[in-house]
Formats: sequence, structure tokens, C-alpha cells
Amino acid sequence: MSDFTHLLERLLPTTDLSMGSGLIARHNVRGLDFECLHLEQIDPLMSGNKVFKLLGHLQAWEESGRSSLISFGGRWSNHLHALAFAAQRLNIPVEAWVLGYPEQPLTPTLQDCIDAGMRIRFCGRDQYAMRYDKVWRTQLAVESDAWVIPEGGDGPEGWEGFGLLASLFEPYDEVWVAAGTGTTAQGIAEQLRSDQTLVVVNAVQDQGALEAQLKAASYLPEIRFAHQPENLRFGKLSPALRELIADADRAGLMLDPVYTVRLLAAWLMAQDTEPRRSLLVHSGGLQGRRGVSGLRYSTL
Ligand SMILES: *Cc1c(COP(=O)(O)O)cnc(C)c1O
Repeated sequence: MSDFTHLLERLLPTTDLSMGSGLIARHNVRGLDFECLHLEQIDPLMSGNKVFKLLGHLQAWEESGRSSLISFGGRWSNHLHALAFAAQRLNIPVEAWVLGYPEQPLTPTLQDCIDAGMRIRFCGRDQYAMRYDKVWRTQLAVESDAWVIPEGGDGPEGWEGFGLLASLFEPYDEVWVAAGTGTTAQGIAEQLRSDQTLVVVNAVQDQGALEAQLKAASYLPEIRFAHQPENLRFGKLSPALRELIADADRAGLMLDPVYTVRLLAAWLMAQDTEPRRSLLVHSGGLQGRRGVSGLRYSTL
């Protein structure tokens, strides 16, 4: 496992991950008890799985000797939000390519990024589509003397940081996690034993592509994709999910509107089957609540 000690000292100076069990709390929503790993609470500004996905990239940046960072994301991106604060703490110049126009009103997400010193470069659809092109990214890296982080902090570097959480998973039969690209799920799968199960709640409708990819990778734990109460397009918040956010809020558990609300919905739905000791991973994203009218958002 990579040693992130020197990075963590500057990145999360007040967080002690070795005492990480302080991040696990018990909750009761709709009469059911569960335990939750609160990655959204590791730091007042930097939140969730995106911080762990960044660790390997930040280390790669260090080793690359490049002078800055470049990445990509949408106007509500949790990734860019975490990256802006990480770069600020490590004092690294950072630029983000964002799909949109400078004339559009800034989202609170982008405003936070700018306030943290991130340079935003708006681009059109064609240019934004280039972010998937590896050759283009390599060229951009050379021309800009930057380490280019793929959108969302994905890629092999993205899963290294989850090794820091390994001991927290040990007592559980099942670990539940929401997936977008599945990088977080892969990072966690590497930390689990063969008698454990990783349950993935996919927030993206991808016709089973991620499921096929994870199952082909032959991880030790059993990997299961959870049934979900609704087949919703990415980012869509139905009345039922909105109600679950409200119920969880009342129970003292704040969920984000894209990933963790689906995680809890899927877990609740699975509870009429035989109970197992499960840990739900809260992957963060609370800043995105500001994009949904009527949702309260507060930093911790
Ligand atoms: C990005 C994100 C995810 C998905 O992570 P992947 O590694 O892309 O699967 C889950 N939850 C939250 C809150 C996120 O911001």
C-alpha cells in the first residue's frame, strides 16, 4: 500500500484516520438500524470519497515534478470541489475545465472552487468531450506542465487511497457503496476478504457495464449489485427519494441527492431478507444539496 502519511499531514491535519472508528455511527431510519461510515465528516471543507480518490493522484503529481494540476467536471462537481480545497491546502496551482459559459451564473460549487483559488476554464461540448481522450490528456499535461487528473479522480491512482480505510471494514459481512464510475467500489473491493460481500448501488444506468467489469476483475469479496426501488436516470430525484432525504434528515443523517440517497433506498429495500451486519459508506456530496430547492445544507 502507498504511504500517504506526508500528504495526509498537510491535507487533513485534523483527521486521524487510524482512529477511524470515530467515523462510524449507528442510525435508525424508518425503524431500521444500520451503521454508516461517515466519509463526509473527515474534514469541514473536504468531503467524501473524492478526497480518497485524490490521494493517489496527488502523490503521482508529486512524483511527476509537474508544476500544477488540471482536471474536469460539471458545474456541481463533488470532485472539483474536493480538488479545489486539496490544492489550496497543498499550495498547488489548479485549473478545472468545466462545461458551460462564463456568462452563466456560477453555481455555489464553482464559487467555492474559485474562492479556494481554482482557475475555471469554461469550454464547449466538443472541447469538453476531449477529456476522455488519453492521448489528448497526455498532450495537455506536457503543454501545461501539469498532472492531469481524469474527471472524478478516476483511474488506477483513484483507488489507492481506500487502503487507509481497510481496518474499518473488518467487522462487517457486507459493505454497501454507491457507484458512479465504480472507482470507489473497486478501491473498497481490494480491501475486503473472501467471506465479505461488497454491495454496489449503481447511480448510473449503464446496461450492466460496471457490473460486468467488476465481476470480471476477480476480487476476493463477493460482489453484488443491489436492486433499486426505482429505475431513475442519473441525478434525477424522485418524490420517493426526496421523502427519504427528509426522513433521514429528521433522523440526523444528511444524504446527498445523487448517490447516498440511492444507497440508503436500496439498503432499506433489501432488509426484508435475512439480516446481515452491514456498513453503509457515506461517500459525501452534501454540497450538492445546494442545487436542490428545499434541501438544507450545512457544513459540519
Ligand atoms: C463521485 C461520487 C460517488 C461515486 O464514486 P465513483 O468512484 O465514481 O463510483 C459516490 N458518492 C458521491 C457522494 C460522489 O460524489
